Amino acid sequence: MTNTQLPTVAKKVFYPCKKCETERYQVVIAHATPKSARLECEVCKTKNLMAIVEPKKGRSAVPKKKSANKVASELARWHQLRETIDGKPAPYNMKAAFETGAALEHPKFGLGFVIHSTVQSIQVIFEDAERSLVHNRQ
Ligand SMILES: [Zn+2]
Repeated sequence: MTNTQLPTVAKKVFYPCKKCETERYQVVIAHATPKSARLECEVCKTKNLMAIVEPKKGRSAVPKKKSANKVASELARWHQLRETIDGKPAPYNMKAAFETGAALEHPKFGLGFVIHSTVQSIQVIFEDAERSLVHNRQ
């Protein structure tokens, strides 16, 4: 529950007490501002200030975009990994098994590096993006 309205004076609310360091029943003594109220803890009689939280608009519905920073760091990592290859990367084939750290050549996505490997799938960094691929298919 979020508090979007101030509770009425003399009403009891369940709110964290700074002295008890836990939520306590507290009596609303007065409204301090239009957005905050003074409370008194029933247990220790400490005065606490309750601030109401304004609902934010459109917070949950919008999917998070992949940040530009993340993409840039993946790209940097790809370039870094490319410096470490010796020999020719193995051609990607879903029947082959790839270990973490292996380099592979994908027919569509190009050069990639395995950053995580499980029994059935591998997480691969390509020059443009990170992708999940199957491997070790029998
Ligand atoms: Zn208290």
